[in-house]
Amino acid sequence: MKLDRVIPFAHQLLGKAVSNGEIAIDATMGNGHDTVFLATLVGDNGKVFSFDIQKDALHATKEKLTSQKLQDIVSLHLCGHEHIMEIVPSTYHGKVSGAIFNLGYLPGGDKSIVTKAETTIAAIEQLLQILSKEGVIVLVIYHGHPEGAIERDKLIAYVENIDQQKAHVLRYQFINGINNPPFIIAIEKR
Ligand code: SAM
Repeated sequence: MKLDRVIPFAHQLLGKAVSNGEIAIDATMGNGHDTVFLATLVGDNGKVFSFDIQKDALHATKEKLTSQKLQDIVSLHLCGHEHIMEIVPSTYHGKVSGAIFNLGYLPGGDKSIVTKAETTIAAIEQLLQILSKEGVIVLVIYHGHPEGAIERDKLIAYVENIDQQKAHVLRYQFINGINNPPFIIAIEKR
């Protein structure tokens, strides 16, 4: 298949936005795949801040980072992403070049603990303040579960109304897939 699937496309966008030595955020660390990816992008001179509300996510992510000797690059927070601005030091505000939200529930974990539009939107609003110019936020939206569909609708309503002078908003989606495959919303700060 020549067309990029959703996660490779998300990583391609982050790869364009985030360079060695820069600051990036994983807003939903889960099992740590995106945190590891961001840590390899920023390298030893950069910094990644990762958030999750579940201890299991922190443990899984810490283990992955340690096994790849990336642990010193990442600061892990057992805390909702709606607190991003309090956690990321003000010296980094305006310097964050990329962020990812992989929404929904922790794979292999408790499916009743899911991301919610209200906190996701609160985090996006904070990120838009602390992102650098041309910094990118990538949202991977899973809408196959009932709460995911609600979150999708609220997020679409929100991102469609972001002032085009402030950001470019892209939707990347396979539109003929059965079972509601995930899709991407990418927001680039102007
Ligand atoms: N990116 C992850 C990976 O690479 O494995 C997958 C993330 S998983 C689909 C979604 C995660 O969001 C879950 O681990 C869940 O606990 C977390 N989550 C839910 N609400 C959150 C919040 N307010 N702030 C941060 N994380 C949250």
